Amino acid sequence: MAFKITHNRDACIGCGACAAVCPDNWKMSDDGKSDPVKTELEEIGCNKEAADSCPVQCIKIEEIK
Ligand code: SF4
Repeated sequence: MAFKITHNRDACIGCGACAAVCPDNWKMSDDGKSDPVKTELEEIGCNKEAADSCPVQCIKIEEIK
């Protein structure tokens, strides 16, 4: 199983929750918004928690082949 992460950066309010719960794949950028380190992953890992913790639900995870 592989996963693709989509981050709606326009909607991101820069709260930092994703980077707090999933620092392995989410970093805060200089403009105050977050960015994923990788957008295609073999293991979803803490990205699920990152998506669940986002108050504006701008992190989407989909399964890809
Ligand atoms: S949790 Fe959502 S709103 Fe907060 S920094 Fe991450 S992507 Fe942006």
